[in-house]
Amino acid sequence: MELYELKPYILESCHFLGMKVHQMTTSNWKIFFPEKYRDEFNGQEEMVITFEKTNDPHATYITFETYFTQKIAQLVAEYNSGVSSGTITTTIQTHLDKLKDSFPDCNLQVTSSLFERSDFIMVWFKTTVNLYLTEEYLKGFKYSLKTGTFENVPSEEKLNDFLDEIKEEQITDISYDLIDGAIQKLYAIAQEDAQTFITEKLKDHEATLQKEINRINEYYDLLESENELAESSKGLTPEEELALLKKERKNLIDQQIKKSRIQQQEVTIEPVAILLLKENNESAKVTVESPFGKVNIDLISKTESNINCSVTNESIGPFTITSDNLIAKTNRVFKCSNCHKCLGDHKKKTCVVCSSELCDECKEVSAISHSTLCHNHATECQSCLHTISAEELNLCANCNQFYCTDCNPSGKCHICNSFKPVVTITPQLHEILKSLPENMQAKKFDVSERGNRINLLGKGLIFKSFLIVYDKTSHSIIYTDKYNLFGRKSK
Ligand SMILES: [Zn+2]
Ligand SMILES: [Zn+2]
Ligand SMILES: [Zn+2]
Ligand SMILES: [Zn+2]
Ligand SMILES: [Zn+2]
Repeated sequence: MELYELKPYILESCHFLGMKVHQMTTSNWKIFFPEKYRDEFNGQEEMVITFEKTNDPHATYITFETYFTQKIAQLVAEYNSGVSSGTITTTIQTHLDKLKDSFPDCNLQVTSSLFERSDFIMVWFKTTVNLYLTEEYLKGFKYSLKTGTFENVPSEEKLNDFLDEIKEEQITDISYDLIDGAIQKLYAIAQEDAQTFITEKLKDHEATLQKEINRINEYYDLLESENELAESSKGLTPEEELALLKKERKNLIDQQIKKSRIQQQEVTIEPVAILLLKENNESAKVTVESPFGKVNIDLISKTESNINCSVTNESIGPFTITSDNLIAKTNRVFKCSNCHKCLGDHKKKTCVVCSSELCDECKEVSAISHSTLCHNHATECQSCLHTISAEELNLCANCNQFYCTDCNPSGKCHICNSFKPVVTITPQLHEILKSLPENMQAKKFDVSERGNRINLLGKGLIFKSFLIVYDKTSHSIIYTDKYNLFGRKSK
């Protein structure tokens, strides 16, 4: 290297290492050392250098041979050898394959896909802790330059596979400042980590000491209690012997404490490997479609996608998509026998008569028992017009009609129980009377009306003579009955 090249070499190298360079005069530059380099320069925070021979006592004259130049060259070399870089590309393919397996009766379509770049810096620190023993451990950290968050470093068993996936590549578009800042953050984290390690060790150490002290105390407690009973073998009085034991006990404990005192506490943390990692991670939207419905699922290559059954919350399939566009396990769906929708079986209702499966929209409910009915087994009570099951009808012995157990609890229906004399002939009554057969005429009428039915009781002067049941929906008389002289039914 020629002499005239020294200045640009030094200034560029300082810049590369993240040292701020400030030109003070035409010949003097002030170099600011980031904290991590200060140890290399006798703890100095800054230094004024010059490339010209000078008498200025504040400026250090720099040549190829000076310590400063050699140190800078060494740091640059260390940096270049310590940092590797590469890219890793992750696709959604494995997630997609898994998804296909999870939805065996569905069609999958990737509707959009993109690769997103994230940059990471991974640093493995070797930490050496000097307490009463020297202990060493290696620990890796992964830091996202984009989000400033930490991620897990692959475990030791998976590390080789992970490194194999990385395509070595120079990454030149990440600023040194960003990398330097990240390394410093990681360094601080590694320091915290080491501190936790030390705290644990000291706790262990303290526990061991305490155990030893307890052992001494137990031993002397025993000696002292034995001594209270008898004279000592050395001819001392019990009081003298006790005083002696007390002194011995204290000495032994003091010795233990002294022995266990930690002489020095030294921690060195050095990065042994630095990896600049560019990740290209694919994310995609996938439409999953069953014959009944569809759902959009986001797949992110680095994240395990979470598929859950909307019925059981289980995450292991096989799944399908219901008519209301929800994910459900294939064994937890049913098809409505009426509208043929496919739905989660927590929405299933079953007809109490024929057990056919129904959705909420298709089910009927009995007003009496509140049980579920299908259309075939639901009927309408013509008196109260409520929906009920055919099995909840009672025959009225008087009018021979079936009404629900509310309208006909005892064998004689409410209609038959509430006859009132006809006061005015309504147009409807007029129509009914007009349609009466010739042989069914009366002077007076009692009427009872409810729901779709009108019961009419034709009366002679003294006795009832006939009963008719008129149905409003069919506009016809659906039942007639004649009474004999004694008011009993004639048939
Ligand atoms: Zn239905
Ligand atoms: Zn049914
Ligand atoms: Zn009824
Ligand atoms: Zn009713
Ligand atoms: Zn009746």
